[in-house]
Amino acid sequence: MVTRVVILGAGTGGTLTANRLRRRHSSSEMEITVVDQDDRHVYQPGLLFVPFGMTHPADIVRPRARQLHDGVTFVEDLIDRVDLEAGAVHLAGGAVLGYDVLVVATGARLVPEETEGLTGPGWMDKVFTFYTPEGAAALAAALAAFDRGRLVVNVVDMPIKCPVAPLEFCFLADWYFTERGIRDEVQITYATPLDGAFTKRTASEALGGMLEERNIELVPDFNTGEVDGTGGRLVGYDEREVPFDLAVVVPLHGGAEYVGRSPGLGDAVDFVPTDERTLQSTVAPNVFVIGDAATVPTSKAGSVTHFEGETLVANIEHYLAGESLEASFDGHANCFIETGFHKALLIDFNYDTEPGPGHYPGRVGLPLLKESRLNHLGKLLFQSVYWHSLLPGRDLPGVGSAMPTAGKRAV
Ligand SMILES: Cc1cc2nc3c(=O)[nH]c(=O)nc-3n(C[C@H](O)[C@H](O)[C@H](O)COP(=O)(O)OP(=O)(O)OC[C@H]3O[C@@H](n4cnc5c(N)ncnc54)[C@H](O)[C@@H]3O)c2cc1C
Repeated sequence: MVTRVVILGAGTGGTLTANRLRRRHSSSEMEITVVDQDDRHVYQPGLLFVPFGMTHPADIVRPRARQLHDGVTFVEDLIDRVDLEAGAVHLAGGAVLGYDVLVVATGARLVPEETEGLTGPGWMDKVFTFYTPEGAAALAAALAAFDRGRLVVNVVDMPIKCPVAPLEFCFLADWYFTERGIRDEVQITYATPLDGAFTKRTASEALGGMLEERNIELVPDFNTGEVDGTGGRLVGYDEREVPFDLAVVVPLHGGAEYVGRSPGLGDAVDFVPTDERTLQSTVAPNVFVIGDAATVPTSKAGSVTHFEGETLVANIEHYLAGESLEASFDGHANCFIETGFHKALLIDFNYDTEPGPGHYPGRVGLPLLKESRLNHLGKLLFQSVYWHSLLPGRDLPGVGSAMPTAGKRAV
């Protein structure tokens, strides 16, 4: 009998899952259907570079269907809801897809309208986000026209995709205005709900020090309650105010909207409760989750999504064979952090190990928690790795899914 696997979302996680499954199972064994609302696969890490003119949205978007191996069916439609009891997905166009195994890979959704004033007067004029292609492109024009004043980068609340991206934005802004010879005319402020520059202690201290060296003001413990685009103010719930002439805001994130319309599938903010080691959902045994849609306590990042792929596919197979699942996902995450001036830092961590110094992936390799040109090249090269290795579901030579310990020095 043919097993029906339906994958919701054709972004990073959905695409690599479909391709990994297709390589291991013939069409006569497994029918694989992937659903997405549009046919534009965005390489999201590239969004960081758009505002600084280092790339263009057209260079980071490719058709989704072309990233999927032959024998995978791509359906372009909006997911309306999942009926867990019936084992069926209802699409907005009226089609109903029955499944034996469901993979939720619909990522995280930006909800800027949840913050008072954010999308009101001033939005896309003085207040921007670089988390969408449209926002990043509009911000590029605004930055090019900005030659003096207060630039504020703000994270409304956690969790967000790629928690280091707003910090990278600050570092790149420092470099960008220095290159333009107007750094002294621009004050850069980073307002974050965290108690420091980042979540993990050692990395937070290192990154906090780098903000200070670059004369970027850090405003910690700032919970944005309102954005006043006309008056140029962020107003915190504790009534503190941060003034700006140009604001770059990372809005609140939630899970996909259809999750909320699917009884029993999601939590209060539409993420899907997931076992952090097996990646099986805790809502139904035949539902698995990959990427930003899951509640697992690690970063929402493409690297995490990639490292999850191996465990996810193995456990779908174990489930179908009636075997017990492997608890093999260790929370492995790594992130290049652009620091400007053609350098970057790399951090590598998992559920149990904080980012620290050393090298990745072994004793010889990219320097960890240290700025280098090599890491910057690694970040730039990653786009090609993404399209040609990661999405097709190939293992990267020398880079396993589990966090390596060989090159790490104790923190
Ligand atoms: C600015 C920025 C910079 C980043 N930088 C990095 C980085 O340097 N390194 C890193 O590792 N990660 C980075 N990330 C994060 C990374 O891109 C994501 O973590 C990763 O793409 C998650 O994959 P996913 O499959 O869970 O979600 P996505 O790739 O976002 O895919 C989700 C898919 O679901 C679809 N979908 C959602 N709802 C519906 C619906 N109702 N119907 C149909 N389709 C639906 C969407 O259209 C989308 O295609 C960055 C993200 C951003 C925004």
